[in-house]
Amino acid sequence: MTTTKGNPAEPLRLLAVHAHPDDEASKGAAMMASYAAAGVSVMVATCTGGERGGIQNPAMEGDPHSSRDMGGARRLEMAKAAAILGIEQQWLGFADSGLPEGDPLPALPAHCFALTPLEIAAAPLVRLVRRFRPHVIISYDENGGYPHPDHIMAHKVTVEAYHAAGDPGRYPGTGAAWEPQKLYYDLAFNPQRFRALHFALEEAGLASPYAQRLAAWLEADTEGHTPPVGSHPATTQVDCGEYFEKRDDALRAHATQVDPAGFFFAVTPEMQRKVWPWEDYSLIDFRVPTTVPENDLFAGLR
Ligand SMILES: [Zn+2]
Repeated sequence: MTTTKGNPAEPLRLLAVHAHPDDEASKGAAMMASYAAAGVSVMVATCTGGERGGIQNPAMEGDPHSSRDMGGARRLEMAKAAAILGIEQQWLGFADSGLPEGDPLPALPAHCFALTPLEIAAAPLVRLVRRFRPHVIISYDENGGYPHPDHIMAHKVTVEAYHAAGDPGRYPGTGAAWEPQKLYYDLAFNPQRFRALHFALEEAGLASPYAQRLAAWLEADTEGHTPPVGSHPATTQVDCGEYFEKRDDALRAHATQVDPAGFFFAVTPEMQRKVWPWEDYSLIDFRVPTTVPENDLFAGLR
């Protein structure tokens, strides 16, 4: 058991909040598997059921279960992924907002997660924080990491829960107050990581799927930063290369959403371990003394 500094009987706990089932596998899966293996209690909160997702894997086209009941199929996929990573998972029970496409963009569906008033949308997460009592909480940045309305809403409810759960006057009826100690944003799309992988592929004479993405970042960076930097700095790198195979297995468990021949598997785990054996985070708020850069999300808590 990995315990806290103040109380040797108290295990460390990590809560990662995600918008859809499969987000936990594409953002921070190896980090979570490595902490779980080291005795940390790891919980994923999944805001929506992902029931408006389409089939992203050609091999699953026409699959009877997901064609009839996408939400049900994704619950089974999520259970498989959680077992692979060795983590607990809880659904927060909101309806997937879907990714609006077209010009003009269509309205979001009634009663979806992204249209739920913040205090209602955050209440199940506050309840979970007060029950699970995480020391560390991880979310997306204010742009959702990727601009899906559910990802932006996942960011909002996480920041709300992080700040409100410790205040006994807020969210009455959702359990005893618990104050999480550190808040991080996930940097799975850290441009520096893609850049390093891109050049390693080129150097090895392999095709890079990142060329376009890098070009777009360079263009978008109005301050002329080279290499491209994200809006939040990487303060914390968790060495978890040993768990990249588990992360890939967890991704493949989301069979309706992940094409085993796709983007996520463009670079072998061996090459990733050589080039970028970390998963990256940005420390946003902390209530324990710590100094950056860190190599442990629990720095200051052990
Ligand atoms: Zn998502």
